[in-house]
Amino acid sequence: MEVVKSYRIPVESPKDLVEEYFKIKQRALEYVLSKVRFSRKAHLSFSKKERRELRDSLLRGWRFSKHYVDSAMASVIGLVKGWIMLYNRGRAKEPPKVTKKTVYIKNTLFSFRDGVLKISIEPKKRYLEVDLTKYHWLPKDFDRLGGLILTEKEVIITVKKMVDLKADKWASFDVNLTNVTALIDGRVERYDLKKLYHIHRVYEIKRQKAQSLSRFKPKTSERLLQKYSRREKNRARDFVHKLTTTIARELERAGSGAILERLKGIKYRVLSGSRKQNRKLSKWNARTFQFMLEYKLKWLGLPVKYVDAKNSSRTCPLCSGHLVAHGGRLMKCEKCNLIVDRDVVAVLNLQMRGAGFPPRALNELIEREGLSGGNEILHTST
Ligand SMILES: [Zn+2]
Repeated sequence: MEVVKSYRIPVESPKDLVEEYFKIKQRALEYVLSKVRFSRKAHLSFSKKERRELRDSLLRGWRFSKHYVDSAMASVIGLVKGWIMLYNRGRAKEPPKVTKKTVYIKNTLFSFRDGVLKISIEPKKRYLEVDLTKYHWLPKDFDRLGGLILTEKEVIITVKKMVDLKADKWASFDVNLTNVTALIDGRVERYDLKKLYHIHRVYEIKRQKAQSLSRFKPKTSERLLQKYSRREKNRARDFVHKLTTTIARELERAGSGAILERLKGIKYRVLSGSRKQNRKLSKWNARTFQFMLEYKLKWLGLPVKYVDAKNSSRTCPLCSGHLVAHGGRLMKCEKCNLIVDRDVVAVLNLQMRGAGFPPRALNELIEREGLSGGNEILHTST
């Protein structure tokens, strides 16, 4: 399969192109939206002739490469079509807007030779050159580059390569509010998330303060809220990036794939206040962690498997009995009296569900505790 990775490279961006592209996208959107018909179901009534007319009108006075107009139109049409689909399912609110000043750069608009990216800005006259060899952290083992995205400050490049996903072993991961527990090569590992939790808390408090301004200074409040959200995301992402890079390297050494919990929508409504906030955080952390770990592992040729995690922290990994709280972080099996750490239970169960057989750590546990892993489960004395 083909795997991808994206990187942000800071550049001296052609501000005029970014601005003009933003403007034609807005114009194109206004036009295309006027071609949406609402008879029974919404659909786009946009003839080839109208498409040509729009293109001609956008090209008037356009000094940049013509391909940019085509890419702006394609992106706007895609945006409207996506919105129509949502609308027909009753899930779209307001019509779409162009909010981001980003320019999509097709493969036809750039060349890549000897590590240098040469992007056409004005035909045969003006180029943006980016020397990618300066960025030692960029992977060198890629087959090709995908389309680029230019923003006001950076260019986002996508590298692609073909890999065969395979693993001899499987590690499992459970993301909690304050740690990630993993079972790698039979060892239980814990990665602290307190710093990440702290980042979220700090910005939550900042946002609450900004929120309290909204009655008197709505604009300032709105601006601050956006700024804090952006910074929180950046700092939190940064943290998860470092963590997943470390873990991916570890799994590469172990030659191990990853078993992750299949996340579903968590119902917040029944919860309130800080519990609700914590659930949201957990979910954000888990999604971000899984997303980043997955693409990093796939790049290394290591597969990722998602398994149903229902009751994974309440089921005994030895006898499938029901686990109950046993003080602190411990859980105790009502049936076989096994006592295990709450986080460890989840990774043991995930690994059994994903790999189809008991993990090494469980075998060691069985030996140590003198338990039988067969049909007959001996009871541990407590
Ligand atoms: Zn049990």
